Amino acid sequence: PSPYPEINVIADTTMEMSRDVEEYLARIEKEKQIRQEFFSNASHELKTPITSIQGYAELLEGGLIRDENMQRDFAGRIKKEAVRMTGLINDILMISRLETKEAEVVMTDVRISVLLEEIVGSLKPQAAAGQVFIHIDCQPLMIRANAQHMRELFTNLIGNAVKYNRPGGQVWVNVREADHQMVARVRDNGVGIPEDSLDRIFERFYRVDKGRSRKQGGTGLGLSIVKHIVGYYHGTIRVESKLDEGSEFVVILPMDET
Ligand code: ADP
Repeated sequence: PSPYPEINVIADTTMEMSRDVEEYLARIEKEKQIRQEFFSNASHELKTPITSIQGYAELLEGGLIRDENMQRDFAGRIKKEAVRMTGLINDILMISRLETKEAEVVMTDVRISVLLEEIVGSLKPQAAAGQVFIHIDCQPLMIRANAQHMRELFTNLIGNAVKYNRPGGQVWVNVREADHQMVARVRDNGVGIPEDSLDRIFERFYRVDKGRSRKQGGTGLGLSIVKHIVGYYHGTIRVESKLDEGSEFVVILPMDET
């Protein structure tokens, strides 16, 4: 033991402080890196549809494509890429709004069963095209939340369960209230997620199968948005999945916080 215990205390405190500063600097550096990666990914993702749009537009402009069906096909492709870009920009804006927490967020009493009906209605064409069936089982509960947040959350989870599925596949949505919490489960018997990707799927732009996601109009931002929204309400999200068997996402949100 030191004859001057108070010096030890000062030394310990100094060490503690320098460790805090180090941790702080490391965190800032990591955040900077994440931001840079985000911008570089976002630019890359935006460039892809722009390049296609430019290519098709140039072909049409050149006047060499005489066949009317082909002209229509090219115009359709331009439109599809433009829709993709809009989706991507909306997703980026949503993430930015959730991160800065600047924008005023309007809270209302959201009736989840009504919202789910709307969402399933808008996913119908996609589900029908993939021959996927959606089952809804929802208690008539209300949650104090931002309606757009709840719409994004369920659209992304149910949309994914439809997208990453197979013909004849099923999606089960179950929403319950338990201990002043909303427990929402979205389960599918689709393609499943490989184990080593499970903790990465919430990262921005991460996709297990890039080709499949892109073909389905995915941006790789959906689950990142879901995670942000869940965090906004101090909730939790977990996922269980087995490759080739299916996945289940469980979201728990406190219901009495406003
Ligand atoms: P995306 O726009 O690509 O759908 P997400 O962030 O919503 O992006 O999801 C990230 C990735 O996680 C997807 O590309 C897909 O590989 C995987 N994924 C998400 N949900 C499911 C699901 N229900 N079944 C299988 N894979 C899924």
